[in-house]
Amino acid sequence: MAFSITPLPYDDTALAPAVSAQTLSFHHGKHHQAYIDKTNAAIEGTDLADKSMEEVIAAARGSNQGLFNNSAQSWNHGFYWHSMAADGGSASDELAAMIDQAFGSADELVKQLQDRGAGHFASGWVWLAEKDGKLSIEETHDGDTLADSDFNPLLTIDVWEHAYYLDHQNARPAYLKAVTEGKLNWAFASENLARGTTWAYPA
Ligand code: MN
Repeated sequence: MAFSITPLPYDDTALAPAVSAQTLSFHHGKHHQAYIDKTNAAIEGTDLADKSMEEVIAAARGSNQGLFNNSAQSWNHGFYWHSMAADGGSASDELAAMIDQAFGSADELVKQLQDRGAGHFASGWVWLAEKDGKLSIEETHDGDTLADSDFNPLLTIDVWEHAYYLDHQNARPAYLKAVTEGKLNWAFASENLARGTTWAYPA
């Protein structure tokens, strides 16, 4: 069965001015849709056609770069839309305690997310992730993903230029500041931590 694009879990103006409706119209409506369409075209009629997105990613990793890029990007964007919210809320007690343990404070985590995102060379993704009961910030390059890794991803931020250029031009730090200071979905991160297994792309 073909994959569908994950609908935006909020109104297209919900994230402005950090991420505008115009950016979402291109980023969700064009970029993410293209990754989905290319994934579907590549798996149609193959033995991957009835697999989950995570199974497609794992099967393509290291053997089919085109399908890997498109399926991983399909997953990453679905996860990214849920990683943001109009009102980011707050972390669960469990997550808050782990943030304090790993980073010292929530403010320090936000600062490190901004620094890692700003320092990431060229296109990629910055993640808050959990493994063996410990939190860390991870980076993946280009279309790479944590979806089929040993990490349980809790949140991600897209640092490809298409994520911020219309709103912030070349100022990636301004985008990162705007997203991380009020638009990260801490309830989603808390759910991902509590579940203990990696978020599944909707079948
Ligand atoms: Mn993107």
